[in-house]
Amino acid sequence: MSTSATPAASTGPNVLAPWIAEQAQSLLAQRGHAWLLAGPSGLGQYALALALARAWLCDQPTPQGACGVCASCHAIDVRAHADLCVLMPETVLLDLGWPLSEKAQSEIDSKKRKPSKEIRVEAMRDTVEFAQRTSARGRGKAVLVFPAERMNVFTANALLKTLEEPAGDVKFVLATDAAHLLLPTIRSRCLGHTMTWPDPVSALHWLQSQGLAAAQASVLLRAAGGRPADALQMAPVGERWRLLPKAVQRGDVSVFKDWTPAQTVDALHKLCHDLLAVKAGAQPRFFAAADLPKGGSWQSLTAWAKSLGNTRRTVEHPFNPGLMQEALLSQAQLALNSRP
Ligand SMILES: [Zn+2]
Repeated sequence: MSTSATPAASTGPNVLAPWIAEQAQSLLAQRGHAWLLAGPSGLGQYALALALARAWLCDQPTPQGACGVCASCHAIDVRAHADLCVLMPETVLLDLGWPLSEKAQSEIDSKKRKPSKEIRVEAMRDTVEFAQRTSARGRGKAVLVFPAERMNVFTANALLKTLEEPAGDVKFVLATDAAHLLLPTIRSRCLGHTMTWPDPVSALHWLQSQGLAAAQASVLLRAAGGRPADALQMAPVGERWRLLPKAVQRGDVSVFKDWTPAQTVDALHKLCHDLLAVKAGAQPRFFAAADLPKGGSWQSLTAWAKSLGNTRRTVEHPFNPGLMQEALLSQAQLALNSRP
């Protein structure tokens, strides 16, 4: 237990970024038993969804949201609230520190299968059952679905039935960065909320409150195209981002060390985008102008962009990640070093 009123409220994972706190307050002021939070990735859909669920279940909620200190808030913080059902793909549960079901955990432990990237039918069954139970703490129940677009047509239909005929006091919050992939019937059953973009100053402040140095925060916010949650996830990339364009031109594969093929393709896509922007007389978006190499022709860069687009579609299952990085790199070099 902490002994004094340390400034725990101003930093740490439970503190909402100001633009999320504002949205939470406005949504909590409205009635609605099912929300769909949509918008591009990295704007904090998950943080807002969790803030809503926490407030719904809190013992002493305020108009601003959950109190943060009651038994219910504590149970959510330790990922063990009997009235909160978190419906996510297993890979996302693991990333965000939520427990898997006992059965799923043992199947993965015994290497029967890998954690699923989809929301599984079994998990959906558990959710439907959860929605029909009575609330354990007497303050209703909440179901959080994220990323909602990872439901297939069967799981989505099962959820739809529960949304249409909610048994008892259960509220839903679905969060997605690909609302267009959801069944229209799911979208129409929910109140929609479009995530708002933070202004760059508060985004930078927030990144610093999460432990990034000022210079690093600004490089990463740029790298993430202005999306703070994505910027924070990129923290391990850090300084390497600034050096990336020229390392790629030199053919230095070490700049991709420890990156997945998807991360590599994403970074190259951003580089290619910026080089084309500069060629067209616009400002680069993801890199600082000074960090970009000269070179490459309009033709070579557009050809590169096209081929990166094709690669993106198959990148989840590369035959050999190391070889793939090498191939991507020589393709990049070819584009960058071609004469105008
Ligand atoms: Zn509370």
